[in-house]
This record gives sequence, C-alpha cells and structure tokens, in this order.
Amino acid sequence: MAVPECTACGTCCFSNLPEYVRVFGCDYDRMDDRARELTRFIGNRCYMHMEDGRCAALTLDAERGLFLCSIYEVRPDCCRALERGSGACLGELHEKRERPLIALDRLRRSAAPGGDG
Ligand code: SF4
Ligand code: SF4
Repeated sequence: MAVPECTACGTCCFSNLPEYVRVFGCDYDRMDDRARELTRFIGNRCYMHMEDGRCAALTLDAERGLFLCSIYEVRPDCCRALERGSGACLGELHEKRERPLIALDRLRRSAAPGGDG
C-alpha cells in the first residue's frame, strides 16, 4: 500500500469514538491553554475532543488538500508514537483512508459558490 505524506493524509486523526486520543497527565502538562481547550474529560480520564468524526485539533485546508495538527508541537504522546509507514499506520489507512478524503470533499463543496456552506 502506498503511504501518503502525513500532511496529505490525516487518517489516524479520524475516529467516531469520543475516547480515541488519550491525553495523559504528561501530555496535559505539556499543553498550552489553546491545546487544553481542545481536550475533554470523560469521567476522570482526559481525551482530545472529537468533532465531526475527527480530532478537534485537526485543521483541513481544502484549497491545498492538507491535514494539519493545530497543536503539533504539544500533541499527545500517542500521536507522536504513531509512525508513518508502521504497522499501526497501515492499519489506519486500511480501515479509514476514505474518511479524510470525504471530509475534504465535503469542505470543498461547501466552500464552492452555490455550495451548501
Ligand atoms: S501516520 Fe499514517 S495514517 Fe497517520 S497521517 Fe501519517 S500516513 Fe496517515
Ligand atoms: S492531536 Fe493532532 S496529531 Fe493527534 S489526533 Fe489530534 S490532530 Fe491528530
């Protein structure tokens, strides 16, 4: 399977599960206020907030077709651990590769003149 550049992919930042990206104490301590605003506590555990099927920190650039982590410098350890081209990455691509492409397509349609935006 061809592995895209992460900035052209974003697949591993997509999930419908609210408890997808765990934010441990060391992650939270590293974060600035802006990043912490994108976290949510579920019970006594902290996670990145998920919105529209993806992490709330993920920014889509429809014009350039890019997926950028808006908190890249302070992202949680589990995001750092997922290496491009690793088995985990390939698993993500196998399971969910179409999701970011659909999201980008939706964004482009809503931004187009006469679109639903
Ligand atoms: S690690 Fe893999 S799944 Fe995640 S953005 Fe990069 S290429 Fe895509
Ligand atoms: S924090 Fe950044 S790298 Fe981690 S899931 Fe969210 S957008 Fe992706």
